[in-house]
Amino acid sequence: MMSYVQRVMNNLQDRYAYEPVFLQAVQEVLQSLQAVLDRNPQYERNKILERIVEPERTISFRVQWVDDSGQVQVNKGFRVQYNSAIGPYKGGLRFHPSVNQGILKFLGFEQIFKNSLTGLAIGGGKGGADFDPKGKSDMEIMRFCQAFMNELFHHIGATIDVPAGDIGVGGREVGYLYGQYKRITRSYEGVLTGKNLLFGGSLARTEATGYGAVYFAQSMLDARGKSLEDRTCVVSGAGNVAIYCCEKLYQVGAKPVTVSDSRGMIHDAEGIKVDVLKQVKEVERESLSRYAELVPSAVYTPVSSYPEGRNAVWSVPCFAAFPCATQNELNLEDAKTLLANGCHCVAEGANMPSTLDAMHAFLDAGICYGPAKAANAGGVATSQLEMAQNASMQSWTFEAVDNKLRQIMNNIYINAAETAAEYGAPGNLVVGANIAGFRKVANAMIAQGV
Ligand code: GLU
Repeated sequence: MMSYVQRVMNNLQDRYAYEPVFLQAVQEVLQSLQAVLDRNPQYERNKILERIVEPERTISFRVQWVDDSGQVQVNKGFRVQYNSAIGPYKGGLRFHPSVNQGILKFLGFEQIFKNSLTGLAIGGGKGGADFDPKGKSDMEIMRFCQAFMNELFHHIGATIDVPAGDIGVGGREVGYLYGQYKRITRSYEGVLTGKNLLFGGSLARTEATGYGAVYFAQSMLDARGKSLEDRTCVVSGAGNVAIYCCEKLYQVGAKPVTVSDSRGMIHDAEGIKVDVLKQVKEVERESLSRYAELVPSAVYTPVSSYPEGRNAVWSVPCFAAFPCATQNELNLEDAKTLLANGCHCVAEGANMPSTLDAMHAFLDAGICYGPAKAANAGGVATSQLEMAQNASMQSWTFEAVDNKLRQIMNNIYINAAETAAEYGAPGNLVVGANIAGFRKVANAMIAQGV
């Protein structure tokens, strides 16, 4: 007889063939839940899988705004309020031309389990728009954010749904979104996280996802008597996650030698200069070719020169790899290359950066593999710390927040490792993270009835 997981998966494949990344995210989770479903028949009885794969609510709306030349522009905006069993919907907003409902469903689905794993009371959600921030002026970004919030404000609130940033949405965008929310509602509540420190942001939130990925790698390595000290690491991406991943790698004595953006990659054998990277990406908002102009030891490879269907970052030999760019940026061939070059550790800063077969290659090789839901949970965990500070009208020191972040990441590691062992898959943090994240949400859903 076909298993419960297979039945649910087949049904989704029939209905959502046009949302491949969503199906991929669901498959990754569902295929690791068999052991917990076998031991807990109440999950099937309560149709938990059928319910958990379906968002509680999806809002899709028109965003109309005026560009600098006076032309009216129209974009599609979304908020997927996926699951509120354990707390208010929480998750970022992505502004990128590729954004559609399927991508946001994949991200929202991931967010449910990630948020559960943090041990904090936050449900899962995600949103965004197919707006391309590239090449837009500051005023265009502001007008777009205001137009987006003109609709989104109806659906969010400090105890209802708390958005934050993701790709294309950083501190500047959160500021414009928050300003508009406040103008409309007159409420100073902490309805977004990742805010500027001047109006309720938390110290260490900007750094949290990148720092957290390194803390997670440390926990995994520590359990095997290894460390990142004096190790060469490769990092992909050049946004907020990648930048602070590089910064933390130096602080723990490692050396990051690569970063990448949509146009190309930098390999700097002497180590990525984080101050130059910040200048190029956060201040000048330029492409990485600019980094190569400023740093003589850097070698720039444009995407057009990458080996076919591959990401050149993963061909640089390293001890540990930190994919911090975007989904499916690391495929099976990339995984084989990393492993052949002696890579011992992969900690995912981006959401679902490894394809399913790449993930299995890492698991089969038995290296330290920290899946995104666990390894990049530091960002959203620190968002919750921002919510807590806002609710109590306090602000904590950088050290206090960073210490909590470090503890949360280590707790996630312990929880995932122990759960993996409990369910017969010792060392498999995909199984451990998925079951641990799932169990809490599923039990909460059952306790709250239908
Ligand atoms: N976008 C981030 C993530 O993927 C952060 C979400 C948040 O802070 O709410 O987890």
